[in-house]
Amino acid sequence: ADELTLDQLADWLRRFAELIAANKDYLTDLDSAIGDADHGANMARGTAAVVTHLDDATTVDALFKKAGMTLVGTVGGTSGPLYGTLFMKMGMSAGSVTELDGPAFARAFRAGLDGLIARGRTELNDKTMVDAMAPALDALDAVLAAGSGLPAAIAAAQAAAAAGRDATTPLVARKGRASYLGERSAGHMDPGATSATLLFDALTDPAA
Ligand code: ADP
Ligand code: MG
Ligand code: MG
Repeated sequence: ADELTLDQLADWLRRFAELIAANKDYLTDLDSAIGDADHGANMARGTAAVVTHLDDATTVDALFKKAGMTLVGTVGGTSGPLYGTLFMKMGMSAGSVTELDGPAFARAFRAGLDGLIARGRTELNDKTMVDAMAPALDALDAVLAAGSGLPAAIAAAQAAAAAGRDATTPLVARKGRASYLGERSAGHMDPGATSATLLFDALTDPAA
């Protein structure tokens, strides 16, 4: 279908939490190489808390604002306020509606990413979650603009996120804890770009 209903958007967040839980140890291993070995635990704690509130929301803005506030309050670490800002701004852009068509979903996600980038003062190739999200949203926009519909746009976004994540490996980190390592941060995949790719993997689930 070319709309995402409130239930489907809630399922997206539920599926994200499942994928984070399934990859918790992997995310922590990645963070142990260039950070402080807590990204898996941080994200698992936060997304599990988000899932407990999914049934409360009756509008898309309420769903995402609650998710964002819950992430800010429970993830801890640098990634909590960043993912939190993403979802809060996504909710503000979506507004008080009960479904989003492809362009509205892309606009809301873009507003969220803009908020995250402003908050983190991040640029592309700083070796962060932005390096997965930005190319993914560019792909989403491009495929929607070509008139191909939401499922194709989501598939393209997922592939672009994964490519962006993989491309963080050779980069030297310029933001966050990994930047303290300087050149030694090169050669390791960024944990935040890896969790961010799971957000797009969660969208490609046929149930979502
Ligand atoms: P902490 O580093 O505080 O322990 P996490 O381990 O949960 O927090 O998250 C680390 C991830 O946060 C990094 O892998 C990176 O993707 C992301 N990150 C760090 N700083 C920034 C920033 N300024 N902008 C965007 N993402 C960032
Ligand atoms: Mg960490
Ligand atoms: Mg930490």
